[in-house]
Amino acid sequence: MNRRLIFWIPAAMRLLLVLIGAGVVWYFLGPIVALAAVLGAMTVMLATQLHYLYQLSDWLDNPGSARLPDGWGAWTDIFSRLYKLRRDDEKNQAELTEWLARFRQAMRLLPDGVAIMDDVLFLEWCNPAAEKHLGLELARDKGMRVTNLVRTPSFIDYVVLGRYEQPLTLNLRERKLIVQIIPFESRRQILVTHDVTDAERVDMMRRDFIANASHELRTPLTVINGFLEIAYNQPNLDLQTRMSHLKLMIEQGQRMQNLVEDMLTLTRLESVEHPLRPERVDIHTLLEQIHQEVLALSAGRHQVSLDIDGPDIRGSADELRSAFGNLASNAVRYTPEQGSIALAWRMTEDGPRFIVKDTGIGIRPEHISRLTERFYRVDKSRSRETQGTGLGLAIVKHVLLRHNASLHIESEPERGSTFIVKFPKKAVFAE
Ligand code: ADP
Repeated sequence: MNRRLIFWIPAAMRLLLVLIGAGVVWYFLGPIVALAAVLGAMTVMLATQLHYLYQLSDWLDNPGSARLPDGWGAWTDIFSRLYKLRRDDEKNQAELTEWLARFRQAMRLLPDGVAIMDDVLFLEWCNPAAEKHLGLELARDKGMRVTNLVRTPSFIDYVVLGRYEQPLTLNLRERKLIVQIIPFESRRQILVTHDVTDAERVDMMRRDFIANASHELRTPLTVINGFLEIAYNQPNLDLQTRMSHLKLMIEQGQRMQNLVEDMLTLTRLESVEHPLRPERVDIHTLLEQIHQEVLALSAGRHQVSLDIDGPDIRGSADELRSAFGNLASNAVRYTPEQGSIALAWRMTEDGPRFIVKDTGIGIRPEHISRLTERFYRVDKSRSRETQGTGLGLAIVKHVLLRHNASLHIESEPERGSTFIVKFPKKAVFAE
């Protein structure tokens, strides 16, 4: 039914009733009494309306907590519609609160920084990543100008000049950030920060690795090409020279092969598609093999000992053979003749240990922390003379990482070095 009729029909009916009543009273009791009755009825009706108006105004003062009155006549409809409005409003409010909580949580987890500023660059809000990137603290800095909070000149220029089409690269607090301002809502601006420090470092490592690897491969290739050219241009070379050239070419070819194999090993170790599949590693068999390899490599030039006193562990036998083999062969390669090399397997309170001790050339302290970097060598020529690729300790580091183990190096120049691989207690193989 038309809403107006809902109001008008009962009002008209009530008026009609009053008039009929007044007519009856007039007929029996005369006009004065009838007039008094009409006035009385009107007063009651007016008082009723005022009563409900008063209740409505009361409720409007505190719509959240007070209960809506039940009402009478047209008031019933008004109150029930107001009640529905309030319920809808409460529901919307609850949804909004929930959505806001979800939004805050998402912003908290976002690795990129987001800060909202007003038209005069006063900070209104920012997420924890923005706090970290820009050194802000929302509770302390809210309402302050961002150019007073981040005082780097390039940042101030970027913010003030308003050329926001291009992002700004900003070096701040030892991090490299990409910063961009996005104007929104005509008066506000969003400041977004993206930390590219780690990505840049990985990129630089990759570039360095490619440059180093190319350089390492180019040297033996140049040697081989040189000898091949000599052989081509001088077919009458004597046998002895030819043999010495061939020997050098074989050595260089071997060097290239070692390098490529080590690079492939490293790539495999780093690849997520090759997760570690732990198995029981028979330490006796493994270390016996390494012992034999060391003896062969040393060819009687060193005293070599092996002492095994510890349990088997869980891990990849192939990977550990490669890691332990690298440490052991380094000991041979960096220990002059008559020196000694001791290989040992021990169980300690903190877990098993593989120890390689040599009486070799030793390492100066400033080099120790860098030895596991790819292609890092203390003495390049010595490494190459002994067929080193510069990747051995990088491989060791990766294998140990995959086994939750760590490498400790103690060394004294001219006296020798001790490389200790520390496994956690839980690496011990339990039947
Ligand atoms: P390389 O193939 O050159 O030996 P590694 O990664 O195995 O490469 O070792 C890196 C560098 O660490 C070596 O070039 C060498 O200078 C040093 N180094 C490794 N092991 C020893 C050792 N037992 N004694 C002295 N120096 C060592």
